[in-house]
Amino acid sequence: MTFAVPEYVSAVTDRLRERGFQAYLVGGCVRDTLRGVTPNDYDVATSALPEETVAAFPDPRVIGTGMRHGTVTVLSGGRPIEVTTFRVDGPYRDHRRPDAVAFTPSLEEDLARRDFTVNAMAWGKEGLVDPFGGQEALARRVIACVGEPARRFDEDGLRILRAVRFAATLDFTVDPATAADVHNSTSLLDPVSAERKWAELTKWLCGPAAARVLAEYRDLIEHMIPELRGRALDRRLLASLPPRKELRLAALFSSLPAEEAGAILARFKCDGATRKRVLAALSHKDAPLGTEGERLRLVHAVGWPAAGDVAALQGNAEAAAFLRRAEKDGAPVALADLAVTGDDLAALGAPGGRRMGVLLDTLLLRVIDGQTKNERSALLAAAREMIEQWRS
Ligand code: ATP
Ligand code: MG
Repeated sequence: MTFAVPEYVSAVTDRLRERGFQAYLVGGCVRDTLRGVTPNDYDVATSALPEETVAAFPDPRVIGTGMRHGTVTVLSGGRPIEVTTFRVDGPYRDHRRPDAVAFTPSLEEDLARRDFTVNAMAWGKEGLVDPFGGQEALARRVIACVGEPARRFDEDGLRILRAVRFAATLDFTVDPATAADVHNSTSLLDPVSAERKWAELTKWLCGPAAARVLAEYRDLIEHMIPELRGRALDRRLLASLPPRKELRLAALFSSLPAEEAGAILARFKCDGATRKRVLAALSHKDAPLGTEGERLRLVHAVGWPAAGDVAALQGNAEAAAFLRRAEKDGAPVALADLAVTGDDLAALGAPGGRRMGVLLDTLLLRVIDGQTKNERSALLAAAREMIEQWRS
């Protein structure tokens, strides 16, 4: 079996082995390499205790942030690699136990605590270590719990959501026994923190099979987000959108009033930038985008990124392409883009205060609608006319 490991990663496992410790690549990087996909990041599991890992990598190449849970971040070739001591979860273990976790000298015990068989493989000196049939599950494209699903979900309710998000991101199915317990155990998600759930949900939505999995696990999504009960879900729209979380969230919430979507985003502690963008798209989702003026007016109201989102949500590829071009060309959509300033208008004798604001806005909208060119002389002429009208 060929298994490509980048040099900066093997540098870390080699160093640990030179010091007499066991060191393996584990989890997602093994799964993805076997699938022929470049891993997002590399995790190492080792028999070395955290302080022994720190000692193996002299400063400043080590960040000991997760030490209590056995994790040390090693910078190798400028890239972070998480090195975690072999660990078991559970109160019954008789191992060295700092705070909440217990360390173990056994790789197999470390693999046994992992969630799914495809995530419970390791790659070491001797090749692939696969005690739970991860390779076979990869070949069958199946997500199955390591051990008994009900018990594993009971230990950590987040695994319910993780099973489904991996099905969506890998385009796998969930093994029948695991799937049955996903459906039976949705309430185990309740005590899990909003942040952990949100991270998995957004990964789910951005997966290539997000729409299929949403249809299969409607009960799970509705348990997490009761506002979606009885609401239509546009699977085709969701599947057609690029895999960006703002867009996919807007699609998920497109049947809800924007205020309700806002409350959900707040409840899950969604970051402010994403929240703003999703809500901007949702509150303008039916904006007319037929003419160039209508499209630029939308940009004027919500900015370039959210306007692009609205075009995507409407499935209006022509408008989306126009907006991309217009942004590149620097089409005027804000007061700062106008070829005149408030001072220019004041020099013409325009009134100050609120009326000045109205005058500038009107000029901008005339430019956006193509009635006036964004040129100084044309704008000053238009302004003069309006000032005259006000005076008369
Ligand atoms: P991705 O590429 O999407 O990050 P990943 O497999 O690396 O996928 P992570 O969430 O980064 O997923 O977790 C890394 C590894 O840690 C997993 O592959 C799994 O072995 C283990 N793991 C993570 N979360 C849990 C959990 N809640 N219960 C059991 N094992 C877990
Ligand atoms: Mg990962």
